[in-house]
Amino acid sequence: MLKLLERLLKEKVATEAITFKEGEAMPYLPDGTKVTADIIKSRLGRSLHVRHLDAGSCNACDFEMGALSNPLYDLHRYGIHFDASPRHADLLMVTGVVTRNLAEALKRSYEAMPEPRLVMACGDCAIDGGAYGESYAIVGPAEKVVPVDIYVPGCPPRPNVMIAGLIAAADMLAEKLK
Ligand code: SF4
Repeated sequence: MLKLLERLLKEKVATEAITFKEGEAMPYLPDGTKVTADIIKSRLGRSLHVRHLDAGSCNACDFEMGALSNPLYDLHRYGIHFDASPRHADLLMVTGVVTRNLAEALKRSYEAMPEPRLVMACGDCAIDGGAYGESYAIVGPAEKVVPVDIYVPGCPPRPNVMIAGLIAAADMLAEKLK
């Protein structure tokens, strides 16, 4: 027990401050407004609940998203949590281009969410089809199926950029709940 306490006192906290690279593509809103430090200002006053839906990604976006919960990025410090059901979610986070097989699931997930609800297109594929575009098997970007409120660019986006987008989404939800 004493050894464990000694180790805990010596070890530094692994969680890093959120930082961005010079010229890094930042999240943006439908009117083209970029998410900046000034936009990331308000707090929701409660936690933000996120339902993730992989609409047909190569999985790289999902791996980066998975890193959000590790001790380095520690998404929970912002009061943002992933949910197992869209019925409990404020935000639908879509990764990947929308395949025809997943389009209905995306539509139904959106419809199952309580109002007010938000949708994030996370990654270039969800934003504009990315490398996959449209084909017999692919519907295209997320906004072809559901209205999108925030875009997080990158292929894949870095976890810090996703965090910026999620905090901006919490700001948007706070506005909607006023
Ligand atoms: S945006 Fe890039 S990393 Fe993300 S699903 Fe598309 S190809 Fe994969």
